[in-house]
Amino acid sequence: MGAQLIDGKAVAARVREEVKRDVEAFVAEGGSPPGLATVLIGDDPASAVYVGGKQKASREVRIVPFDERHPADTSKEDVVAIVERLNADPEVSGIIVQLPLPGHLDDTEISGLVSPDKDVDGLTYASAGLLALGRPGLRPCTPAGVMVLLEEAGQQLQGAEAVVIGRSNLFGKPMAQLLLQANATVTICHSRTKDLGAVCRRADVLIAAVGRAEMVKADWVKPGATVIDVGINRTESGLVGDVAFAEVSAVASAITPVPGGVGPMTIAMLLRNTLEAARLQRSAGTVTA
Ligand code: NAP
Repeated sequence: MGAQLIDGKAVAARVREEVKRDVEAFVAEGGSPPGLATVLIGDDPASAVYVGGKQKASREVRIVPFDERHPADTSKEDVVAIVERLNADPEVSGIIVQLPLPGHLDDTEISGLVSPDKDVDGLTYASAGLLALGRPGLRPCTPAGVMVLLEEAGQQLQGAEAVVIGRSNLFGKPMAQLLLQANATVTICHSRTKDLGAVCRRADVLIAAVGRAEMVKADWVKPGATVIDVGINRTESGLVGDVAFAEVSAVASAITPVPGGVGPMTIAMLLRNTLEAARLQRSAGTVTA
């Protein structure tokens, strides 16, 4: 295996340490510590685990978690009222509505109620618009984490050919926007892309976010490319990414593993976004220092 392993676990641990130090400095300057509210409607066990992980990670960096859990049959009016209450609460810097919501609630509509300055998931219309316009704003956590990993790998993005497989609102589209902002030449691929392998072979930076186990083979990868594997697929042989790791490692110059690559970066960036939101609210005067 020739490729450098991009160790997301180690980078994420470092980001979390940095956030902890910066939160302490933020509090030392006076005023309340940052707060992160998670809104969980219903009792989906996987969602409960994710929310628990976010709460624990918050506590570890001295961000105050606010745990909003409500039954699956909570009415739309009540959920709207919960989000509006959190929007107005000066102790809450960031809000996450855990998806998916129960069937009677629309994920996009409810997430869209989060105030843009508390949108630490970076997924509201306002945040997506700011990103598309190249304006400052809170960025979606997973693509922001990939940008940190690319920097860590020493990947030059200016003028580089970057190919993103996947065009979801959650990952593919914001990823492409961030790469564009870094002056890469960006191609977005999806299920209707013709000759995907040929497009991928052009990439200096190849990012796969599809959800198909080991779809990207070695002959899709340009020798020396940096390969970022966002996919998480549960198979009989365990957790694997969208990239055939062993064979691609022999061709790429740098690659993220699954697990231990992109995955750990998401929560680390969420914590960073929460601190950033608290700073923005303090400087805007919506909370006092
Ligand atoms: P998604 O919404 O299902 O989007 C998948 C994308 O892949 C779509 O744009 C789809 O194209 C494209 N696609 C599907 N089959 C394809 C094919 N045969 N060839 C080319 N493109 C194809 O998924 P997502 O939310 O972006 O997530 C993608 C993967 O990343 C999943 O495995 C997810 O678990 C993982 N993920 C991980 C993290 C993390 O590590 N924290 C965060 C987010 C996502 P169409 O648009 O044409 O349907």
